[in-house]
Amino acid sequence: MTRRSALASLVSPLAVLAAKPASQVRLTGIEVFRVPVNKRGDWILVRLQTDAGVTGIGDASHGRDEVTIAGLKQLWEQMRGQPCTAIEKLRQFGTPLARPAGMTGMSGACALSGIEQAMWDIAGQVYGVPVYELFGGALHTRIRNYANINRATFDRSPGGFARWAERAIADGFDAIKLASYDGFPKDPSQAEAHIALGTECVMAVRKAIGPKADLLIDAHSNFTLDRGLQLARELEPARLFWLEEVCRGIPNLARINEAAAMQTAGGESIFGVEGFHPYIAGKAADIMMPDVKYCGGMAELKKISAMAQGAGLTISPHGPASPVGNVAAAQVCVTLPNFLILELGYGEVPWRAEVVDPVEPLRGGHYTLSDRPGFGFRLNDKLLASRGQRVTI
Ligand SMILES: [Mg+2]
Repeated sequence: MTRRSALASLVSPLAVLAAKPASQVRLTGIEVFRVPVNKRGDWILVRLQTDAGVTGIGDASHGRDEVTIAGLKQLWEQMRGQPCTAIEKLRQFGTPLARPAGMTGMSGACALSGIEQAMWDIAGQVYGVPVYELFGGALHTRIRNYANINRATFDRSPGGFARWAERAIADGFDAIKLASYDGFPKDPSQAEAHIALGTECVMAVRKAIGPKADLLIDAHSNFTLDRGLQLARELEPARLFWLEEVCRGIPNLARINEAAAMQTAGGESIFGVEGFHPYIAGKAADIMMPDVKYCGGMAELKKISAMAQGAGLTISPHGPASPVGNVAAAQVCVTLPNFLILELGYGEVPWRAEVVDPVEPLRGGHYTLSDRPGFGFRLNDKLLASRGQRVTI
């Protein structure tokens, strides 16, 4: 052992890296964890290792788990031994896999993004800066989150939604989202009763949260164009912050967007700048909702945001995700001039914040990102040992 390496072994991994250029730090291993959350999906978490002792983490959740894990294996075979900063190389390997024509679309995108996030986390630590510094530096000191209560609300009645909304407001959120038209009946004769109940839930939540909090409604593409136009009119008294994905197809969404009194939002399942280009050009919505897990990763999120900015549109990343995925998105969001608000899956599991250490940086409905290098937290191995399963790939 040389004097230099002997000294380095006594101090932190960051100090070791000071003696080793980032381009020489190589990826040496991958760990994948499946964390059961609820019937809406598991969290798939990725941790990459390097030959400098630094590790990085990413979120590959909410594709089809088995397909995502196969995608992680396929990408890892390409990336093993690569420099930790070879993120564009990963994107070249991963993009064909992640395009909808590739390995069942979103699962491939989740795999690409999980590894990409982990590489950014490593790069931040290697350079000794928070990841947002690598994306141009922070414009915002805090990130406003909205509480998506839809995934926690199993009592789909007006009272059931109102109770979860009240809990989120009590926790400091001032913006609430629900999708009360889910479970749309296949029998057209039952549609109107279902829509009426969904709207009753919207109005109950508006009453519960008061006039000042923002209310966001996701219609999950359940409506025809004509019924969707009518829905937008019916929801005017609820004074929505936005109405999301009323129907399918860019031309139809553009009709809704043009006619609706409220802002419209959408695009959560679109991959890449090539997917967002027609969506933006077609005026499908006022607010773009790229999901860092589905859209191609953090670098792609930044590019999509620039495209949206060029069209005068704002960005609100979609993101039922683990704290890893949400904070990865937030690392980009703090650098965006056209950032609006970030989604957070509220109330899914009581141990959500503890899946990372230190805990998820959420206070009063806002993220305040750490100034520690990388993402600023690690996976909580103790919690993963009790709640998750290690997946061999
Ligand atoms: Mg949505």
